[in-house]
Amino acid sequence: MDFRFNEQELAFQREVEDFIKRELPADWTERSIYWPGGYGTLAELEEVDPIIEQFTRKLAEKGWLTISWPKEYGGAGRSHIEQAIFHERMSYYRVRGGEVATLIGGPTILHFGSDEMKKEWLPKIARGEVRFWLAYSEPNAGSDLASIQTRAVEDGDDLIINGQKIWSTAAHAAHYAWMIVRTDPDAPPHKGITLLIVDNKSLGVTIRPLTNICGFHSFNEVFFDNVRVPKKNIVGEKNKGWYYVMVALDFERLVIPMGGFKRTFEEIAQYAREAKLNGRPLSQEPLLRNKLAQIAIEIEVAYMFFWQTAWMLDRGLVPNIEASVLKLVTTELSQKLANLGMQVLGHYGPLERNSKWAPLGGRVCTGYLDCISALVGAGTSEIQRNIIAMRGLGLPRS
Ligand SMILES: Cc1cc2nc3c(=O)[nH]c(=O)nc-3n(C[C@H](O)[C@H](O)[C@H](O)COP(=O)(O)OP(=O)(O)OC[C@H]3O[C@@H](n4cnc5c(N)ncnc54)[C@H](O)[C@@H]3O)c2cc1C
Repeated sequence: MDFRFNEQELAFQREVEDFIKRELPADWTERSIYWPGGYGTLAELEEVDPIIEQFTRKLAEKGWLTISWPKEYGGAGRSHIEQAIFHERMSYYRVRGGEVATLIGGPTILHFGSDEMKKEWLPKIARGEVRFWLAYSEPNAGSDLASIQTRAVEDGDDLIINGQKIWSTAAHAAHYAWMIVRTDPDAPPHKGITLLIVDNKSLGVTIRPLTNICGFHSFNEVFFDNVRVPKKNIVGEKNKGWYYVMVALDFERLVIPMGGFKRTFEEIAQYAREAKLNGRPLSQEPLLRNKLAQIAIEIEVAYMFFWQTAWMLDRGLVPNIEASVLKLVTTELSQKLANLGMQVLGHYGPLERNSKWAPLGGRVCTGYLDCISALVGAGTSEIQRNIIAMRGLGLPRS
């Protein structure tokens, strides 16, 4: 086993780092309040920021939005390890290197889409021209996703959709819904679901904002009233959507801002070195040093899982249990890091980002609130443990 990157990978890491430093505004990393693992702070900052839009266009020109995709579909034809290296560096500078279409929808189309669908959607996703949002959850279907009630019935070459989605992150800033609907109400719940792509601009789509705990408009509730969608927008086969969406969820759980954890931890540790408690550096407090060391260990462990999943993808293996382990470990780390930040910053921790006294740009305050979302989005921690118990340990369904 060799844990080192090879020469090509090291060169790519340097290239990515140089590119970010050259192209990203110098103050972006400090200005960004993005908390690693949090969902609630992304939409507010990035989807609407023209600087990031321009930066994303440059990434697309290099094929870096879809690094591991084949060149024929606009990718860079590189390995998954190189893709992981890219995302690690990007998140270290608190900028995302992709969104639902590039990281979840596109890879699922690559696996299950027809040739026509691949030709129609993948190149424009790779060029960064279209953004997706995830239309899975409904008011009565979250963990028990197979109980979705949004219906789609056939009408000639189209499907007609009626129903409601909720917790739709960045739906207002995206172009298309990556959506599951019930197409066979008489089949067992898992067997009557279809995955398809729906244009936000379709007649009958209404998007209403929901404000999250951080005070940002990050998610929405979305209503579908007789929305007409061409059948050619179905991913794979009708009624097989449950299977595809399970794979898409694995892709989602692999999107981990590993570098963001490292960066934020470095800043908290640096603060502990500089701040004083009773005239002594905070970093000399035994209890606090232990906690810093503990989180440092957990970040290293998470890195191992992170590289392992990329390594598996490069060998054609599907990181299914590993995706749940990585998601669970890192989202719980997100909360532990926020707790550590609050402890180290003391009274200054709860100051909001607009306060001139807020250390670290107020990120700890926002992160303390935002990290809750990490434990719920993309399947709660309880659901990840259920998956690991069933698929990993072979325990019976509870
Ligand atoms: C910030 C954020 C962003 C999101 N973005 C999106 C999005 O873009 N698109 C989208 O479709 N959805 C999105 N979601 C929704 C998310 O996927 C659901 O909230 C999640 O799947 C949980 O569903 P629920 O909220 O209905 O909770 P429930 O399923 O009602 O769960 C409530 C509690 O019961 C526990 N529980 C439920 N079932 C079990 C079980 N079998 N075993 C043990 N415990 C169980 C859960 O862990 C949880 O603690 C987002 C959620 C958040 C918080």
